Amino acid sequence: MDEFELIRRFFSKDNNDASVVLGVGDDGAIISPSPGHNLVVSTDTLIENVHFPDCLPPEDIGYRCVAVNVSDIAAMGARARWITLALTLPDVDEKWLQKFSEGLYHAAQKYDVSLIGGDTTSAQQIALTISITGEVLPHQAITRSQASRDELIFVTGSLGDAAAGLDLLINSSGSSEAEKFLMQRFSRPTARSEIGQALCGVATAAIDISDGLYADTKKLLLSSELGGHLYVDRLPISMQLKQIYNQEQRLKFALSGGDDYELLFTAPAIKLDEILKISHIYNIPITEIGVVRNHSKLNCSLNDKLINYDDNGYLHFNG
Ligand code: ADP
Ligand code: MG
Repeated sequence: MDEFELIRRFFSKDNNDASVVLGVGDDGAIISPSPGHNLVVSTDTLIENVHFPDCLPPEDIGYRCVAVNVSDIAAMGARARWITLALTLPDVDEKWLQKFSEGLYHAAQKYDVSLIGGDTTSAQQIALTISITGEVLPHQAITRSQASRDELIFVTGSLGDAAAGLDLLINSSGSSEAEKFLMQRFSRPTARSEIGQALCGVATAAIDISDGLYADTKKLLLSSELGGHLYVDRLPISMQLKQIYNQEQRLKFALSGGDDYELLFTAPAIKLDEILKISHIYNIPITEIGVVRNHSKLNCSLNDKLINYDDNGYLHFNG
């Protein structure tokens, strides 16, 4: 199968998106953005054995690479619209491509984004780069840099599941319901797309958690030139994570495990009611886990005792 046949068979599904004036097949795609909107653009690359293990099924790889890109757009408070896919493969494996394409289109449908182009190349290792474009009204986007002192820090969903899921994918057969749930949290992450858009005008700053709660909170606070405090005992931990891992392992996954793709955001206390309403509407927990402070450090406490946490992901319990 040559490159053109491959693109035609696996990446040319028509989706009746009126905003796509010209999709896959020409030198470039033509899109028609919603009037009056700004475009938000982001790119993420996933490399086999770096960002996902080689045992991950191709349909999950396809799904995941779309979801993690939508998550970046969600963290900006924007609506994801169009993606391009740069695909690097060691060989043409039709079965693999079929499954990968199914997973990719499944996620594209779920998040209402259209695949409008890409590039296909050959190399030793599987690498997938998705570029995504979203839309947001002028001055509505949520950036990392606008947090203020004394604002509260919130997080959606639960933390640590995906890191535990990755651990299970690599080291266990994962047969219990709890194990399956955790593995799914890694292989099929949920981009908090609707919540991100609902947070426009509510959150002052936001980031999606891809590198771990502690590291990503630090990134947001650094952009805002501030510090903060995380109440580690308040971190939302799923029932499934509690079933399988002890407290120390859970906290380690929750604080340093990446790949959760939950949204971390700051907001003033006056917005609490609105935040509860958003949590209720989308049926996703939103938990207050910390506070923004006027210094440059990010401290952590567990049950009112300060704990040391370093960037290598080690937790030091002080007594
Ligand atoms: P060119 O030679 O002009 O770069 P290509 O032959 O690489 O074009 O691609 C032909 C068409 O197929 C283009 O519209 C391109 O955007 C699209 N395309 C290539 N690879 C992919 C892919 N993996 N997924 C989706 N579209 C693709
Ligand atoms: Mg090309």
